Amino acid sequence: MRIAVPSKGRLREPSIQLIQDAGLGPETPSDRALAFPCRNAPVEALLVRADDVPEYVQDGVVDCGITGLDIVRERGADVEVLAELGFGACSLQVAVPMESEVTDVEMLRGARVATSFPALARELLPAPIEIADVHGSVELAPRLGLADAIVDLVSSGSTLRTNGLRSVAVLLESQAVLVGPREPAADAVQLAGVFRSVVEARGARYLMLNAPEDKLAAICALVPGSRAPSVLPLSEPGMVAVHSLIPAADVWRLLPELEAAGATSILLVPVERMLG
Ligand code: AMP
Repeated sequence: MRIAVPSKGRLREPSIQLIQDAGLGPETPSDRALAFPCRNAPVEALLVRADDVPEYVQDGVVDCGITGLDIVRERGADVEVLAELGFGACSLQVAVPMESEVTDVEMLRGARVATSFPALARELLPAPIEIADVHGSVELAPRLGLADAIVDLVSSGSTLRTNGLRSVAVLLESQAVLVGPREPAADAVQLAGVFRSVVEARGARYLMLNAPEDKLAAICALVPGSRAPSVLPLSEPGMVAVHSLIPAADVWRLLPELEAAGATSILLVPVERMLG
C-alpha cells in the first residue's frame, strides 16, 4: 500500500509520528528523502507537498494520504475523509483591520479579500467578492492597501493580533485528515481504523486509584465518561481500587478533586490503542 505524507511544513513530523505510533515501524526518512518504507507492514510512504496530496489520492497514485482538511476542501478533489487525525488543528478565518467597521461577513459583500484560499473564500463568503490571490504574508495585505479583509488559517490568533487584525468569522474548522478515494481499498480502510484507534487513545488516560469503600460513591461521581469504572476489592478490608478511562484534557482538574474526595495511590498511565 502507498500512503502520501507531507514532505515538509507543520504536518510532516506529526504524520510520521502517527505512522510510528500506529506500529508500522517507519524507517526514519532523511530531510531530502522522497519516500520511506515501513518495517512492520507492506506500506510505502511517499513524501509529497501537502498541497498535492488530494490530487495524488484522486488520481490513484497512492491508496491514501495525509493532509489538512483546508487543503482538501480548497482543492475540491474527489476524495473521501477516512479519518480525522487530531493534529494540525486550525481554522480558516476572515479578518479585517482593527479599525474597520466590518462586524459580520454580510458587510464584506463587494470587498476585496486577500487570501491563498481563493476557492474557499468564494464558496464561504457572500457574493460578490473580489479576490487578491496572494501566497505568504497574507496578513500584510490590508496594511499595504491591497485588500479590505483577509481569509487565512489561524491557530492561536496571535499572528492576527500582531498584524493589527481582528477576526470577523470562522469559515472552516480544519485538522489533519487521512483521505482516500471514494471507494477505498480494504487496506486503506483498515489503516484508517488503526489511525483512529491511536488518535482516540491519545485523548485518554487510564486512571487507577485506591479508596476507602465509603468514599466510592463520591469518587465514582467525579469520574466521567461513557465507560463505567472497574471497582476491585483490595486485600486490605474496607479498601477498593478504582480503574477508569478519563479524557486527557480533564486530568489537571480531576486529580486534585479525586485526592480531596479520599483517593490515594493515584496512578495515571497513557493508553496506546482504543478500539470498540
Ligand atoms: P505548512 O506546510 O506548514 O504550511 O502547513 C500547512 C497546513 O498545516 C495547513 O494547510 C493546515 O492544515 C495546517 N495548519 C495548522 N495550523 C496552522 C496555522 N496556524 N497556519 C497555517 N497552517 C496551519
